[in-house]
Amino acid sequence: MKVAFHTLGCKVNQDDTESLMTLFQNRGYEVVPFGPGADIYVINTCAVTQTGAGKSRQIIRKAIGFGSGIVVATGCYSQVSPEEAGGIEGVDLLVGMAERPQIVDLVEKYLADHQKRLQIEIFEHDGWIDLPHGLVSGRTRAMLKIEEGCEQFCSYCIIPYARGKVRSMPLERVVSEFQKLLEAGYREIVLTGIHLGCYGKDLGLTLEDVLKELVTFPGEFRIRLGSIEPTDFTEELIRRIAGQPRICQYLHIPLQSGSDRILERMNRGYRLDYFRDLLKALRSINPLIGIGTDLIVGFPGETEEDFESTLEFVSKQRFSKMHVFRYSPRKGTPAAAMPDRVPGKIQEERSHRIGKIAAEMSRAYADQFIGRSVEVLFEEKEGLDWTGLSGEYIPVKVHCKQELKNSICQVKITGNSGESLRGVLES
Ligand code: SF4
Repeated sequence: MKVAFHTLGCKVNQDDTESLMTLFQNRGYEVVPFGPGADIYVINTCAVTQTGAGKSRQIIRKAIGFGSGIVVATGCYSQVSPEEAGGIEGVDLLVGMAERPQIVDLVEKYLADHQKRLQIEIFEHDGWIDLPHGLVSGRTRAMLKIEEGCEQFCSYCIIPYARGKVRSMPLERVVSEFQKLLEAGYREIVLTGIHLGCYGKDLGLTLEDVLKELVTFPGEFRIRLGSIEPTDFTEELIRRIAGQPRICQYLHIPLQSGSDRILERMNRGYRLDYFRDLLKALRSINPLIGIGTDLIVGFPGETEEDFESTLEFVSKQRFSKMHVFRYSPRKGTPAAAMPDRVPGKIQEERSHRIGKIAAEMSRAYADQFIGRSVEVLFEEKEGLDWTGLSGEYIPVKVHCKQELKNSICQVKITGNSGESLRGVLES
């Protein structure tokens, strides 16, 4: 039988979909592209923004429109809004987060008895839920999800309601999965989680413990870290990351606002001084470490003064990447009930203003590498141009006849085209 998948949202969701594909393949199903003709459609939905939820509904309807197979919704949107997702006419099954290891059984049960299942049990699961790792051949980078769930409850975020408590993959399992990925030929392993910096909270371990183990593996590889919340950094974690050759020198640390007043309303748990000192500490070890961030503009109650404070703060922090989101209310979160909504037009204008600064900062950050040597993992070729990513997460191009796919090479940077750095291989 043929099964087709569609994933919405974050990298963690993409990783989850690969695991779900493996579950079906292990039972003899054929994974086919998302289009007409499949017997089963699995939509791994997203709820992080209103747009994510809207797109999830749109894709569910698209699958129903193909008219050839049953439609199964799983992921964050169907977990937090089962009535809405299950209420779409034509949806056959909802599969909850904790039930995903049994997704094939649930589908086969439906195919046998045609009993629609449109309710999901409240998610109160403790302990690691084991999904097989999806190994996709021909890729250079693999994601390894080692943590699930978040207990921070930022006031705008629906994720803790969708993903539940912090649960961590046991350390021995992290080590063995990591080894398998290296044996499968991946050169970059991205450690991910919903709240990665909380890894081990439930096991009496920390992310530092994981890094300590993984960097000792022999061979040529590098470790990239998914997003880490500012409050999760300890002195030891900073030392284990900054300047460490095996660890990609790029960190994504969500700031969300450059106003202490708004940070408090967001329930982020830090102030700007703390964030500033954190970046200082990381850069005192590696001045060129890339720091990316997320910002939300137009959070309820954000005044022009708050926004000006954000502009001023981010301009001084020299971020290498900045993702700017316009606040959108998520039903069931405290922020959705807050007064003083910022009109869409103002949100748009703020997002535009900050976007300009983001582009200038990215360019200025990349320019610093001209004349320096960076480590690049090559992935794609167009003509004789090979492209890869530096450890700092900057695209780098070299013109070269040699086969470079999946090789980690030192490249001397000669210029910046704006979209990528250009360079020559160092012998
Ligand atoms: S840390 Fe905050 S923003 Fe991130 S998943 Fe948890 S609640 Fe959401």
